[in-house]
Amino acid sequence: AFDVLVVGGGPAGAAAAIYAARKGIRTGVLAERFGGQVLDTMAIENFISVKATDGPKLAAGLEQHVREYEVDIMNLQRAEALIPGERFHEVRTASGAVLKAKSVIVATGARWREMNVPGEREYRGQGVAYCPHCDGPLFKGKRVAVIGGGNSGVEAAIDLAGIVGHVTLLEFADALRADAVLQKKLYSLANVTVIKQAQTTEVHGDGGKVNALSYKDRASGETKRIELEGVFVQIGLLPNTDWLKGTLALSKHGEIEIDARGQTSLPGVFAAGDATTVPFKQIIIAMGAGATASLGAFDHLIRSSLP
Ligand code: FAD
Repeated sequence: AFDVLVVGGGPAGAAAAIYAARKGIRTGVLAERFGGQVLDTMAIENFISVKATDGPKLAAGLEQHVREYEVDIMNLQRAEALIPGERFHEVRTASGAVLKAKSVIVATGARWREMNVPGEREYRGQGVAYCPHCDGPLFKGKRVAVIGGGNSGVEAAIDLAGIVGHVTLLEFADALRADAVLQKKLYSLANVTVIKQAQTTEVHGDGGKVNALSYKDRASGETKRIELEGVFVQIGLLPNTDWLKGTLALSKHGEIEIDARGQTSLPGVFAAGDATTVPFKQIIIAMGAGATASLGAFDHLIRSSLP
């Protein structure tokens, strides 16, 4: 059995595993895809102290660093259930294995909801983006669209308006869903256009980069085209927590509720990173949270009366 079993091999999971292993306790990492979302990222310019890197490089660095320690890495394994116990918690994998651990750290991350329109996948990283904090500066002075008029879409549009040349915000419904204060700010900006009842139908490009977007005007039924260089998709971030429903307290968005030590509603189970209620989803934040959850788990282990 493990002292600490980390589920997830992204930045949060890697940090948690290293912090646990450095305490000399039996540590395992179970990951569906070691590296996590970082693997899908091209330019990374906000990982402090590293001026610029890319996803595959950072993911390789994460794995190399974890392998410096005695950590049992179980890659390409998906956790399907968490079964709470008195002495040990159990994690059951899709392949049928059952792993026992005195404490578990859940760091299964999240994924961006996609529009599922032609061109979106093809131009991902070549104009189609999901993270304004990450990729906004790449579009300095250019024309972009933000898809989604909820809080994250409107926040993204306000943020981007300060960097890019022009922002078009497209909302499917006939009204924005963002908080009134955000909408007020949005409408005060000179370089933002808001289009409602707009259903994005295609992202166009020249084979290398995005150059336009088409949408259906749901009021008239007409298809319209906007020339632009970037499309930020802001229609939701889905935490990878379906397998925990009914076991851990989740927010209404499915995020794992944690306290300042990364403790979840279940004693001995901690969580970190994009899968949790942490308000900002970034690599450096996920790593800090992984370290926090690991120290929280260690503290739990030394305080629990179990040998
Ligand atoms: P993830 O990276 O999502 O890792 C989750 C891990 O859990 C993976 O190993 C996954 O395979 C595994 N997993 C999931 N479900 C299961 C399961 N049931 N069983 C076992 N394992 C499971 N952030 C920045 O700071 N800077 C950037 O420039 C940047 N650019 C980005 C660009 C893109 C395209 C994307 C998608 C994200 C970007 N981000 C960026 C955000 C950043 O990648 C995330 O905030 C960060 O990776 C979160 O780390 P995490 O460890 O919490 O989760």
